[in-house]
Amino acid sequence: MKSVNASIITIGDELLIGQTIDTNSAFIAQELNKIGIWVLHRVAIGDVWDEIWNALDEERRRSEVIIITGGLGPTADDITKPLLCKYFGGKLVLNEKVLDHVKYLFEKVYRRPGALLEMNRKQAEVPDVCEVLFNKRGTAPGMLFRSHSHISGIDATRDRDSVFISLPGVPSEMKGLMTEEVIPRLKKSFELPAIVHKTFFTAGRGESAIADHIKDWEASLPSNIRLAYLPGFGMVKLRMTIRGDKKEDLEKHLAPYSEKLEELIKDILVAEEDIPIQVVIGRILKEKNKTMATAESCTGGYIAHLITTVPGSSKYYKGTVVSYANEVKENMLGVKHETLISAGAVSEDTVLQMVKGVIGKLDVDYAVATSGIMGPDGGSEEKPVGTVWIAVGNKQRSEAKQFSFRFERERNIEQTAIAALDMLRKFILADSQSL
Ligand code: AMP
Ligand code: MG
Repeated sequence: MKSVNASIITIGDELLIGQTIDTNSAFIAQELNKIGIWVLHRVAIGDVWDEIWNALDEERRRSEVIIITGGLGPTADDITKPLLCKYFGGKLVLNEKVLDHVKYLFEKVYRRPGALLEMNRKQAEVPDVCEVLFNKRGTAPGMLFRSHSHISGIDATRDRDSVFISLPGVPSEMKGLMTEEVIPRLKKSFELPAIVHKTFFTAGRGESAIADHIKDWEASLPSNIRLAYLPGFGMVKLRMTIRGDKKEDLEKHLAPYSEKLEELIKDILVAEEDIPIQVVIGRILKEKNKTMATAESCTGGYIAHLITTVPGSSKYYKGTVVSYANEVKENMLGVKHETLISAGAVSEDTVLQMVKGVIGKLDVDYAVATSGIMGPDGGSEEKPVGTVWIAVGNKQRSEAKQFSFRFERERNIEQTAIAALDMLRKFILADSQSL
């Protein structure tokens, strides 16, 4: 099977000076990967005519799919559209559907009908040699150009059809266009290989420990099955990938290997899907019709934030007490004054009392509590930076565990949150088994 290659060109001075982080490339690469298009090259360039022109010349030699983002705004520094128009030998014409949409956005969404300027009207102009990719989330439409390229390569001179796609830089607009307009068109335009991924989400063991544990299995994998370790904060995802002609055959071929892996990692397996742990917790609680709350000291509400990013979390999540100061631990959660004095805020007794307190206060089935030293200051010999106590419990019983994280503040907070959610997940599962 012939593979289809892609290049991604991101345009914008802000990318080069590091003011904007290029998240677009990562998203586009992931989406292309999913449908079996291999990203061969990625480049970031400024809003400079010659740079963009040269990048197009260069990337079309490499790839049959070239995706460009940025430079489609209404201001003078955004030159991608006139450039593409010239590059493909077209002229700009007004697109009525896009103009109606720009007017609609200004009148009904931005509620500034008088603010529609000539330069915004210009956004409705598109090259007459492109397919317009309608952007319902913003004023700048995407554009798709097809070109028949005559490429003289090292091995031979080839003719081939290439597709150039220009998308706005705003990530939400780019994402919408990518999934709704671009991917379906690419699937139609090219004969793509089938790809099957199987992802195992694990928590509680590091990447190298897992690698060591599964090394014999990994060595037994045939060459067409690839295994990727995707470590994150406090978890590791293991993704198996196989590509070929027919999806059903690939699934059949992969099955015995993935079943064996699942068996090997069952102790640390969180989900057989690529989903965040807060989604896993949500599913479990919804299925069991139970509720939860959090009592957060060192995570300062970050666990609450993670949980509430899940749509429908109001069904099982009641809230958090951000008990950062000792007096809040005492007054809101009923942690004993002498515990805070003798054992300290970062201690087993404190987090156990926090769990008990929040379960009573918010009347929930389960709770998790965190208290720790996130750094860079506040550590001592006895309790160095990264020392964290986490407790989980229900109305009858609770348990606590100490962790030692060794990172900078932000990462310590993220690690604590993931560890807390994973402890809670295990507690709920063990609890319902013992019923
Ligand atoms: P533009 O289409 O060039 O006007 O870009 C609009 C906005 O999208 C910029 O102000 C950036 O904040 C954002 N943006 C542009 N390119 C990227 C990129 N590659 N990754 C993430 N955000 C981007
Ligand atoms: Mg720009």
